[in-house]
Amino acid sequence: MICYKFCFLEKRINNYDDEGVSGEKQMPSFACKDIGMDCPFKATASTEAELMKKIADHAKSAHKIDPVPADLMAKIKKAVKK
Ligand SMILES: [Zn+2]
Repeated sequence: MICYKFCFLEKRINNYDDEGVSGEKQMPSFACKDIGMDCPFKATASTEAELMKKIADHAKSAHKIDPVPADLMAKIKKAVKK
């Protein structure tokens, strides 16, 4: 529960930052909860390929998913915010 509160706070802070820097290039981001996972993991990277690598590493270490199946990969790609 503490983690969820923290994540919420972090999200709010990030949103404030976004308002401050308008016109700044948006980095691709992904959150496990976006695909319905009960997990506070969030990742951002400068490129989508780098982000997918971070997600694959997380899936392996935290969810014991290795390799990520194609249908899940498609779901993740759809959930990635660009
Ligand atoms: Zn996760």
